[in-house]
Amino acid sequence: MRYSGFKVMWEALTGHKGWTPAWRDPDPQPHYDIIIIGGGGHGLATAYYLAKEFGQKRIAVLEKGWIGGGNVGRNTTIIRSNYLHDGNIPFYEFSLKLWEGLEQDFNYNAMISQRGVLNLTHSDAQNDAYLRRGNAMRMHGSDADMLDVDQIKQMYPSLNTTDARFPIKGGLLQKRGGTVRHDAVAWGYARGADSLGVDIIQNCEVTGFKIENGTVTGVKTTRGDIGAGKIGCAVAGSSSRLLAKADMRLPIESHVLQAFVSEGLKPILPGVITFGGGHFYCSQSDKGGLVFGGDIDGYNSYAQRGNLPVVEDVCEGGMAILPMMGRARVLRMWGGIMDMSMDGSPIIDKTHIDGLYFNGGWCYGGFKATPASGYCFAHLLTRGTPHPTAAAYRMNRFETGHMIDEKGVGNQPNLH
Ligand SMILES: Cc1cc2nc3c(=O)[nH]c(=O)nc-3n(C[C@H](O)[C@H](O)[C@H](O)COP(=O)(O)OP(=O)(O)OC[C@H]3O[C@@H](n4cnc5c(N)ncnc54)[C@H](O)[C@@H]3O)c2cc1C
Repeated sequence: MRYSGFKVMWEALTGHKGWTPAWRDPDPQPHYDIIIIGGGGHGLATAYYLAKEFGQKRIAVLEKGWIGGGNVGRNTTIIRSNYLHDGNIPFYEFSLKLWEGLEQDFNYNAMISQRGVLNLTHSDAQNDAYLRRGNAMRMHGSDADMLDVDQIKQMYPSLNTTDARFPIKGGLLQKRGGTVRHDAVAWGYARGADSLGVDIIQNCEVTGFKIENGTVTGVKTTRGDIGAGKIGCAVAGSSSRLLAKADMRLPIESHVLQAFVSEGLKPILPGVITFGGGHFYCSQSDKGGLVFGGDIDGYNSYAQRGNLPVVEDVCEGGMAILPMMGRARVLRMWGGIMDMSMDGSPIIDKTHIDGLYFNGGWCYGGFKATPASGYCFAHLLTRGTPHPTAAAYRMNRFETGHMIDEKGVGNQPNLH
């Protein structure tokens, strides 16, 4: 079924009897050509592009819970491509371009809103660093504008530009950045993949791998063994736990990241802002809630909930730049498990086990990467070679020292 304005009107006039389920609920088959483990954004996007762009058939996505229950439905919805390094900008720019045509492509309203992402700066040195970043972005064909304080005051009158502890010096604006309704991305990809014949199997946890003579031949699951020609792992925060079942130890740690939503307010933030004097970022949802977050909790965990010290730290960051938010009530908060890689950049690569492929290490920036990650993982699974924009995301960079350390802080996950 295609969704359209005409279809909505027709259903309104005929009692809404013509809507069908957005995807099927199939039982697992004994064997698939390709199995993707993880029904988050990356796994579903991979399955979608495998079927749509790379002509693959007999594909299944195995999800231990329900699709959208992981980080894809827990993030703060920000998309952007404001990266610095050669290994990163082309990939994230590719992703932003895919976002720009995604709703038409998978025929689903994901509320993609290019409302702009503004990184505030609070010292001359930070201003210079962002200027350098903006130039690097432009050299890769992305958009970037440096704003002065007057321009920022005009765009964001609610920011504290007078007596702030960290006065605003300027900001790097990416106009094409913005927000996307996160769970609609999972649903859109799921619906698109299902319509191309992909089996999306929920409540199906992978509990082990079947490996014969160095080649993976299938998975063990809570719904029985399933054979596969190739297997792609895209389980984000559960990467270390899953790959341990194939006796692999990854350069990844799992940490909790929290998100917060306030009560609905009248429009005060036209776009996304990030505070440069601490770790705080904020946007306003279409319902009026301030959607904000900050640092990871700072200890390894697989729990999808966080603790109070970081709540305090995030709120302090917010109050420093947006004092009025101290009067708003927080309505909801939750946590997700972040797959923090040791240089802050992701991995999309084969493993040493034939037929077993890995996608992970997204840290807290993987939502914006969803379309490109799916596309590039599908490319690797089909062609056996990395997509040109993801060529740097190899596993062995941690052995050879070719890190893509975007922030230059090394293996300190709390600083990425
Ligand atoms: C609070 C928060 C804020 C964030 N904000 C942003 C942001 O603003 N912008 C941005 O770009 N990124 C953000 N991120 C990061 C982003 O959400 C993640 O990097 C990205 O969603 C991870 O990829 P995914 O969608 O595939 O993960 P997930 O949705 O977590 O998918 C992985 C799936 O694998 C499943 N799984 C795990 N183990 C197994 C198993 N053994 N068998 C079967 N299935 C299994 C899980 O149930 C899960 O559904 C944020 C994350 C959090 C938590």
